[in-house]
Amino acid sequence: AAAELAPLAVVTGGSRGIGAATAERLARDGYCVAVHYGSDAAAADTVVARIRRNGGDAFSFRAELNRPEAGHRFWEAYDAAAGDRRGQRLRTMINNAGVTLRGPIEDFTSESLLQQQQINQVAPFLIVQAGLDRLEDGGRIVNVSSGATRIATPDIIGYTMTKSAIDAFTRILAQHLGHRRITVNAVAPGIIDTDMNAGWLRGNPEAVEQVLPQIALGRIGTAAEIADVISFLASDDARYVTGHTIDATGGSRL
Ligand code: NDP
Repeated sequence: AAAELAPLAVVTGGSRGIGAATAERLARDGYCVAVHYGSDAAAADTVVARIRRNGGDAFSFRAELNRPEAGHRFWEAYDAAAGDRRGQRLRTMINNAGVTLRGPIEDFTSESLLQQQQINQVAPFLIVQAGLDRLEDGGRIVNVSSGATRIATPDIIGYTMTKSAIDAFTRILAQHLGHRRITVNAVAPGIIDTDMNAGWLRGNPEAVEQVLPQIALGRIGTAAEIADVISFLASDDARYVTGHTIDATGGSRL
């Protein structure tokens, strides 16, 4: 009977933005999706409800990532919510949750640096480390990096440092897990219309006017467009791709 169960995917930060779009895309791909969230239970519930309405399967669970014990707490919360899926191995793990703290280099505090490192970089490490035995051989890990690693943007230096670490994490983990046929890749989104960019971009035509000429495709990206790349990396079609970060910036500052 276990063989008939849909494969399992977990998406961190699946309650909003790129994570929510990824959860919905993976559900359409046939996964039962575990939708992780940090604080926005209503948003996570909405994603789960939408997936179920479309005939898919999903459940949500809460885990704060801004803490040193984020890895074990994450899987405890997952187990408590997994119901009859508990014990089934995961085929796919998407490390998407993240925060961007902006500010001039001169004023950037060590608190901001450390908070971003904890959430964007340390938590994915701890979640994967504590979850390695839960992954199927032949499974997939996809990490969400950022186009900022290629495009110098002083206002988000602390953030960018965490995403460069994610690229290194991706490459090294790919080497480490290859013998289990687990692939590890990342996607580096450009400017995507999500809450993360609400502050400076949404409803700010001037900011939009400024960035569009720097994007070959001439427009801001959507969360679904990143979800589609993640879906490819999670699919069987990408089975011989590992340790790689795919640029999905619409051709930003080429
Ligand atoms: P959003 O701000 O829209 O969503 C962030 C998600 O991460 C939410 O689901 C949130 O959950 C979760 N999260 C944030 N902080 C924590 C925390 N401390 N503990 C647990 N969960 C947390 O972000 P995006 O969808 O825009 O970004 C997703 C990923 O894509 C991030 O890693 C980001 O760095 C990356 N990215 C985004 C780009 C963009 O332009 N939008 C560009 C390049 C990369 P909750 O709301 O429940 O707390």
